[in-house]
Amino acid sequence: MSLPLLPDRTCGGCVECCRVIPLDLPELAKPTGQLCGYCVDGAGCSVHEIRPQTCRVWFCLWRVVELSDDWRPDRSGVIVRPDGVERGEITLYVVRRSDFLADMDFFATIAGWIAEGVEVALSVPGPVGTYPARAVVTDWLRPAVEEGDPQDFLARVLASLDRLAEHDFQPDGVTARYAVV
Ligand code: SF4
Ligand code: SF4
Repeated sequence: MSLPLLPDRTCGGCVECCRVIPLDLPELAKPTGQLCGYCVDGAGCSVHEIRPQTCRVWFCLWRVVELSDDWRPDRSGVIVRPDGVERGEITLYVVRRSDFLADMDFFATIAGWIAEGVEVALSVPGPVGTYPARAVVTDWLRPAVEEGDPQDFLARVLASLDRLAEHDFQPDGVTARYAVV
């Protein structure tokens, strides 16, 4: 999918999606959670001009909607996935637990989405080479949102992440293939 990007925002030093998003294309395949071999530390994509179409059109929602700089995925540990948005679902892919989960910005933003009727899901990565786990948590978070209680909200988020971490993660079956030429 391709959403219009914010004109004044770039990925900067973030390369999170080049690590955690599954890729199984004819010219590029890598196990989920393994940093793409074309990604150069501090410089980004080394095949930028000829990168696969999937890489050209996949952007997290931090590149699309007005979320604060603290939401940048390498800082927040949270990738707001774009898939599902068109049907009113937002998935928060928590690739790393950070203090941002306790931030009022995080609480207020998600509370706003839930109040607007958006379905919110949490997702966590499994071991390298497995699909992530995901669960819709709107109704579980709603009491904390309606009470305006950030502490209860954080407790509910962490409890959800703990449950997801116990998931029976399934292998993605992907063998690395680097053939972008
Ligand atoms: S996760 Fe988002 S901000 Fe980070 S590199 Fe990917 S598109 Fe850019
Ligand atoms: S080809 Fe480039 S943009 Fe695509 S996953 Fe690899 S480093 Fe990222």
